[in-house]
Amino acid sequence: MKPKIGLEVHCQLKTKSKLFCECSTNFTDRKPNENTCPICLGFPGSKPSVNKRAVEFGIRIAKALNCDISKEMFFSRKSYFYPDMAKNYQITQYEIPLALNGWLEVNNKKIRIKRVHLEEDPAKLVHVGGDIMSAQYVLIDYNRSGVPLAEIVTEPDFTSARDARNFLEVLSSILEHLGVYEREREGSLRVDANVSLGSERSEVKNISGFKEVEKALNYELLRQKNMLRRGIEVKRETRHYDSNKKITLGLREKEFEEDYGYIFDPDLTRIEIGREWVKEIEEYSAELPRQRVARFIEEYGLSEHQARVLVFTDKHLADFFEECCSHYNKPGEIAKWTVTDLLKCLNWHNLTIKGSKAKPREFVQIPRLIEQGKITERFAKELIKEYVNTWLSPKKLLSKASEFSEKKLEKAVNKAIKENRKAAEDYREGKMEALDFLLGEVLKKTQGRGNPKKIRKILKEKL
Ligand code: ZN
Ligand code: MN
Repeated sequence: MKPKIGLEVHCQLKTKSKLFCECSTNFTDRKPNENTCPICLGFPGSKPSVNKRAVEFGIRIAKALNCDISKEMFFSRKSYFYPDMAKNYQITQYEIPLALNGWLEVNNKKIRIKRVHLEEDPAKLVHVGGDIMSAQYVLIDYNRSGVPLAEIVTEPDFTSARDARNFLEVLSSILEHLGVYEREREGSLRVDANVSLGSERSEVKNISGFKEVEKALNYELLRQKNMLRRGIEVKRETRHYDSNKKITLGLREKEFEEDYGYIFDPDLTRIEIGREWVKEIEEYSAELPRQRVARFIEEYGLSEHQARVLVFTDKHLADFFEECCSHYNKPGEIAKWTVTDLLKCLNWHNLTIKGSKAKPREFVQIPRLIEQGKITERFAKELIKEYVNTWLSPKKLLSKASEFSEKKLEKAVNKAIKENRKAAEDYREGKMEALDFLLGEVLKKTQGRGNPKKIRKILKEKL
């Protein structure tokens, strides 16, 4: 039995205003239900109009995924009853979407893209006193209601959970490079996955995070495998992934598309997508991740591994790297310290490069200090750790470290003199060997650390 997995990816587009009204899409730090108006609250009689920028972003995505852009498109009402949609229908595209028939190559495998369409995000449900299954009550925040989404639907071309995760990582990098989405925003990429081993499939809804998708799919595949092995039929149903318990749970028997009773939205009639405009958008064409990886290898002489880590971890990391190169022209050295130690330390603190206080101008002090012979490679590792701990510049950290060690040396010298009064007196009377003896005593106390020249100097001062 070969697994068959298809994905529906919802990407929140980072336009300024919502898909059908002028409310802001920026709901971080906003009070619940602050970004609302009669349109996104679905008041009877309110009239939606389409945000052109959202259509443009959709076209950018569709083009990057090698889709055919429709000459005209329609919006439809998808009827369902749920409190996250005040109108009791979602405005989406069904019969004639923005784009069809694309593909994306990931790890030498072509994944077919069935369609790309635009739709409005529902409101956010806040489950109080538990999760979706156990909450005591639910609060609704309409700030998210009407935020534009691009839905990217693949054919069931994935044969493993890992494949699906790889695809999502590449897709997310493309979306970032197109400038249409903000990876950092919570829930900005949400995935529904159709999974089947036998003849019927289940749909796991609303999974956030690539690792989570992989885990949810692996769980679901195992669940179906066990059922089929015992001769139990897999039902067509919608399931919820519980990321705490790491299992999927049945929510409802899956409705069929016909059950939604799609009808064209009479407020949003036929929308022509002019070829001229599509061309204009195409010409804007941002550098895509694959091209950027190739350029990093070519222009900066990086290894493929380094280039891929810089580009696919997060677009901002690649941007950070390039900015570093503009301050210090040794890309190989910068890449080396970025993809290993810096990234490791950021991960340890659970930080992204954008969420951190790393500054290219400061970070390049590390390879520069090595080049100047002021620090060893081993010490550089320590310095990067300290940098991510404190966000003090490497130069400042270095001068602090030497100050510190000087104080430590002084302490050891004082102690050695105190404990060896005889040797101290011998030195004062002119016996030079006494100094070497005291030096040895100091080094014993510092476990051999400290520059002997410096220790001699301090000894002479103190004696
Ligand atoms: Zn509104
Ligand atoms: Mn959808």
